[in-house]
Amino acid sequence: MVRSLSQWTKTLSFPNRHSKECNVNVHPIQAPPTPARNKTNNSSPSSSPPNSPSNVPITEISQIIYPDPDSEKVIMGSLVFCIHHKEGCKWSDELRKLKAHLNTCKFDTLPCPNQCNAQIPRVMMSDHLAFTCTLRRAVCEFCNVEFSGQGLEEHQGFCNQEPIYCESKCGTRVLRGRMSIHRSKDCLKRMKRCQHCQREFSADTLSLHSSTCSRTPVSCPQRCEASPLPRGELDAHLRDECKALSVPCTFKDAGCRFKGPRNMLETHLEANTAAHLSLMVQLSTKQNQQIASLKNAVAKLSTNYTGTLLWKISDWSTKMNEAKNKEGLELVSPPFYSSQYGYKLQASVFLNGNGPGEGTHLSVYIKVLPGEYDALLKWPFSHSVTFTLFEQCPIGSGAQGGIAESFVPDPSWQNFQRPSAEPDSLGFGFPRFISHELLSRRPFVREDTVFLRIKADPSKVVAV
Ligand SMILES: [Zn+2]
Ligand SMILES: [Zn+2]
Ligand SMILES: [Zn+2]
Ligand SMILES: [Zn+2]
Ligand SMILES: [Zn+2]
Ligand SMILES: [Zn+2]
Ligand SMILES: [Zn+2]
Repeated sequence: MVRSLSQWTKTLSFPNRHSKECNVNVHPIQAPPTPARNKTNNSSPSSSPPNSPSNVPITEISQIIYPDPDSEKVIMGSLVFCIHHKEGCKWSDELRKLKAHLNTCKFDTLPCPNQCNAQIPRVMMSDHLAFTCTLRRAVCEFCNVEFSGQGLEEHQGFCNQEPIYCESKCGTRVLRGRMSIHRSKDCLKRMKRCQHCQREFSADTLSLHSSTCSRTPVSCPQRCEASPLPRGELDAHLRDECKALSVPCTFKDAGCRFKGPRNMLETHLEANTAAHLSLMVQLSTKQNQQIASLKNAVAKLSTNYTGTLLWKISDWSTKMNEAKNKEGLELVSPPFYSSQYGYKLQASVFLNGNGPGEGTHLSVYIKVLPGEYDALLKWPFSHSVTFTLFEQCPIGSGAQGGIAESFVPDPSWQNFQRPSAEPDSLGFGFPRFISHELLSRRPFVREDTVFLRIKADPSKVVAV
């Protein structure tokens, strides 16, 4: 808003303290007498010269004709108060700066031309009329309806034509008026129930769920008459029920190559009983061979290679009775080796005695069996051999006793030459190792068990 000089000089007044400077310059202007309403600067009339215009307001400056540019310069340089000095503005400066001041002077207000009763600083008027005047006319940018300013403010946030983001955070912008339809019909985040399992999912995850929902009906891949069936039951159906699925014969592991629909299997089984039986016999034979070779392997693993066998003979009384009733009954020990690659040895006992000990003594013997390393060993076998029968004392009753017998083979004895593949010799030992009388008198038998140790020692030291 450009104002003419007259608009803002009507009530100009000049501060007293600058009167002397202004005096000379302003004097030729000869301002007319001050109207009563503009009487200002009454506070210090005595300090100014009587004719000075500085203590009287200049009025109607617009009517003054500047005599020359110099005078205009002088006038514009005059010190003046703000035209709102009376209302309280403290501003004072050269006249030329007044216009700029009025742009910011908070006392320079006008009533709103819309008669909204607001007093608006002049510089704010255009903003007020455009944006804040409650009586301004304004058009909603979304629905194009015209409102008063206040009406528009009340309308804001409620306009049905305004696009807003969906509150369910689906990322879509929808006109406010269509939001409820969007949220119930289109929104990807609306909750929907899976029609098969009845669980709830957001619309955008439902299709993913549908592809895995265990209750969704699917057809059997074998196209049997059971289709459709819930996806979660398909595996069990194919495994146990599906009549159309090709299954192998029950005797597949035995070698039957039949494979066909489940409903044909029964017919196949009935028609092939003999063939299946023969397959089973073959399988059984094969398995027996496997078991034998496994037994062999296990026996090898458990073979004793230490040269010492502690032979635990249980069920003593039964075995003794058997021996008494059956002449020449021999108990043989598990085979053992004198060392890792040594002689293969085996002990034996006659519970009711043998030879000179028959009927009165326990006889013990050892013999050399054909071993795996015989070809590399020195012959005849010449290790010392010791038999020890242990007394079994109750726990804590002191040192363990027993009886022992040893021998070192004579190189001339035939028993200890390299054995043939099927040895029949008795071996060497002690037919009168211990008498039945001593056996029962001392605690050699406990809990129907006897411990006999057989030790083969290459050092030839006879341990007792
Ligand atoms: Zn001011
Ligand atoms: Zn207004
Ligand atoms: Zn609107
Ligand atoms: Zn949405
Ligand atoms: Zn489901
Ligand atoms: Zn099926
Ligand atoms: Zn078969």
